Amino acid sequence: AGAATLAFDYTGSFGDSASGLFHVKVGDAWYSWTQFESIDARAAFPGFDEPGFKTPFTVSVTTHPGLVVIGNAPKVSVTKVAGGMEKHQLAVTKPLPTYLVAFDTGPFVHQTGTIPATPERPTPMPYGAVATHAQKDKMGYVMAETPRIVSLLEQYFGEPFPFPKLDQIGTPIMPGAMENAGADTYGDGIIFLSPGATTSDKQAFGMIVAHELSHQWFGDLVTPAWWDDIWLNESFANWMGYRIGNAWRPELNIGVGALDEGFGTMNTDALEVGRPIHQPITDNGQIDSAFDGITYGKGGQVVAMIAAYLGDEKFKAGVRLHLKRHAYGNATSEQFFQSISDAAKDPRVLSALKSFVDQQGVPVIDVRRQGNGIVASQSRYAFLGSSPPPLSWTIPFCVRVGAAKQCTLLDKTTTSIAAPASGLIMPNVGGAGYYRFDMAPADWQALIAASGTLSP
Ligand SMILES: [Zn+2]
Repeated sequence: AGAATLAFDYTGSFGDSASGLFHVKVGDAWYSWTQFESIDARAAFPGFDEPGFKTPFTVSVTTHPGLVVIGNAPKVSVTKVAGGMEKHQLAVTKPLPTYLVAFDTGPFVHQTGTIPATPERPTPMPYGAVATHAQKDKMGYVMAETPRIVSLLEQYFGEPFPFPKLDQIGTPIMPGAMENAGADTYGDGIIFLSPGATTSDKQAFGMIVAHELSHQWFGDLVTPAWWDDIWLNESFANWMGYRIGNAWRPELNIGVGALDEGFGTMNTDALEVGRPIHQPITDNGQIDSAFDGITYGKGGQVVAMIAAYLGDEKFKAGVRLHLKRHAYGNATSEQFFQSISDAAKDPRVLSALKSFVDQQGVPVIDVRRQGNGIVASQSRYAFLGSSPPPLSWTIPFCVRVGAAKQCTLLDKTTTSIAAPASGLIMPNVGGAGYYRFDMAPADWQALIAASGTLSP
């Protein structure tokens, strides 16, 4: 008995759509890419397509001469082999689940540069952009803007980029983007912008690139233990995408998109039939259906709500603690909640998170003046004519009355909050809450009348 090494001969084939190992003819040349999330690495090699199995991968790709090969790790060597072919040997990767492995081949244009050292990373880091010849004139924007987004993320996480290099890769047939470790892959239109790109092109670029790059830490460095935790991966990256996108180019107002997405999701979440963010995944068909509006829109807004309630520094400390505890390993949502509440020294955020994550539905908070203060009452929001079963939440509720802003955890049906006896009431101040609110008609009218001059 003892360790055994298994060797497999394995044959896969290229598909025509963006999953598994796929190829596309662009101009008169063929290019190939991979898209393995969730369980499509098996189209290229045998393995355990489960996020809990992380292992270092050593990949080599043998191609016709003169082609470019891009993978998760830097290239070690290219050697001539039988039949006039070339073998591209890549360095061994950090431990990865199969869904984050990637390798792309073809007559790509590969532009390269270095991202200067940062306080978190003492040495410059190689990076590049990878495009088919059809896109080669549009690589300037992603080359120019990627370093700043990486640096902003390093500053937030307090840690260097967790892999030895980064390539930003375009493919003509991806509908979205994918956070392969050190080899982010995007639909061409997302990262290859022409000089006349519109504001909305740039907003999408900032939000999506920041989203995918934030996964390099949150998802790739620390990976969900099982598919039922993929919601946290996407909810967090969604929140970071808007946040870091906004920090990258404040004038583009990218942060507003998060509100739009979160509030848009409420229309689905308020229906009688729906799903909670966190639910069991017991068969393959359920994995991909977890990547929906509830995960991205509601999940992102719930992360925003907790972060706003704790305050930026405490929430960030929890995120950093989580990455330190589980670096290059796996973690459950439960372990993330634990890191956040340990760093914040506030165990009540656990019940707040769980009440939004483990049950579907949208709360509505009714705010009324009463003596020296206000009374906030929660119930389940429902469309006219529907009467879903009642639910209750632990709601991080932030309100401004006059000039006084305060945040309270509403963990009962009705909560009294001390506040000035007069002055404008602005519930959900800052807009990070995942709930609707209602007030007396006079307070609504006052708020609407002041809407032109309100700060967020
Ligand atoms: Zn994502």
